Amino acid sequence: MWLQILSEILKLTVFAGLTLAGILAIIIWKRDLKTKVTYMRFLVQAAAMVAFYLLFSYTTELLFVLVVIFLLSIFWGRFFCGWLCPFGFYMDLVAALRKTLKIRYWNLQDGLNKILDKFRYALLALFVFLPFMLGEIEPWQWPLAKFLAGPFKPISVLLSPVEPLVIPWESTIKVYGVNLSYPYASVIAFYSGESYALLCISIFVALTLASSFVVRRFWCRFCPTGASFSVLNRFKPFRWIPLLRLNKVEEKCTKCGICKRVCPAQVTDVYEQKGGDIKTSMCMLCLRCVELCPYEDCLRLNLAGKTIFKSRNWLEPSKIE
Ligand code: SF4
Ligand code: SF4
Repeated sequence: MWLQILSEILKLTVFAGLTLAGILAIIIWKRDLKTKVTYMRFLVQAAAMVAFYLLFSYTTELLFVLVVIFLLSIFWGRFFCGWLCPFGFYMDLVAALRKTLKIRYWNLQDGLNKILDKFRYALLALFVFLPFMLGEIEPWQWPLAKFLAGPFKPISVLLSPVEPLVIPWESTIKVYGVNLSYPYASVIAFYSGESYALLCISIFVALTLASSFVVRRFWCRFCPTGASFSVLNRFKPFRWIPLLRLNKVEEKCTKCGICKRVCPAQVTDVYEQKGGDIKTSMCMLCLRCVELCPYEDCLRLNLAGKTIFKSRNWLEPSKIE
């Protein structure tokens, strides 16, 4: 009964959250307070998490959800990772806590970060293709095939980071009757067995959150879901498709390096590239660099060629307000 009430409250919350996000977006836009974009992102991420709960409560076909997100990503790049992914939201909350505690983050070496970016595609290939290739093998005869059976399926693995914290189906992790989940929790539970499930999941949660506490968006450097969103746009014939693009005006760049320092994914292309569209698949369009670049109109977010958000000269506040 009270789960029904909780579900109704969540439904109302999502509509209230989305309405509030819309109103705030208009206020921020009107007042030209675009440096508040990070707060707006938190709000959108929270609303998206509730929206995913609702989506899953209507027993939506998972393949359909994946196809819609994938199609959106062809046109919006990795906007989903930056603004909508629930797992990304947890990591951003952990980073906000670190910031509040005034603890400094660690940066991975640029070389290692680029290697991990390529490694994501190897992981993606493993997750997506091996179950098909091994489909004919009797799962219990061979350890790897056994590993790839059960819930370890391309669709569930790719959609796992999209699962919200509270889920509308029976889960292995239950607290006071509320079904909780965390990305890959069902896969871990399946393979670790009933008695160890909670322990293994707790270790996984602790590891991913602790690593995201010290290294910003740590999991995003491995995430097969994020890689799947950018895989098509890596190929030349498809590079013209994205409608949302980060763009740099080289003449306005003073090489202050702020964009490099504030990027949670440690993208260096914005700093290094000599102007034009930033096409790296490591960028998740979080807009942190645009928000904090202190030079007027140096960095921009373009939608179908039209600038919808650009950097401001926040060094001289009188020029903003
Ligand atoms: S923050 Fe702006 S001005 Fe500074 S290096 Fe980056 S793009 Fe150039
Ligand atoms: S390059 Fe800019 S928009 Fe892309 S992830 Fe880094 S900070 Fe965010």
